[in-house]
Amino acid sequence: MNIAYIAGIAVLLWISANVYRRRKRRNKVVCVVESNCTGCRQCVKRCSRHVLEMEKDETGSHVVVKYPGKCTACGHCLEKCKFNALNLIERI
Ligand code: SF4
Ligand code: SF4
Repeated sequence: MNIAYIAGIAVLLWISANVYRRRKRRNKVVCVVESNCTGCRQCVKRCSRHVLEMEKDETGSHVVVKYPGKCTACGHCLEKCKFNALNLIERI
């Protein structure tokens, strides 16, 4: 076995793992635990795909998942939320 052969196999494995990871992510979508949301907007600012928006009602401001179809389940908004108000769930 030469080095090029081993490198080729390594690249193929890496590509397959990435494809698998992306497919798995596409099956998930972000959801908001409204009772935990303080309306701090950190997640809205962090989402580059503009999936999340603020809404106001009689209980105050909180985040809603406005465009779930655009969510890639990257998890960046979850990293920003200090209040455990976001989860990734399986798409229905
Ligand atoms: S970061 Fe968390 S607490 Fe802040 S607005 Fe988003 S979901 Fe609500
Ligand atoms: S998981 Fe990613 S794409 Fe989905 S709302 Fe959060 S930051 Fe946006």
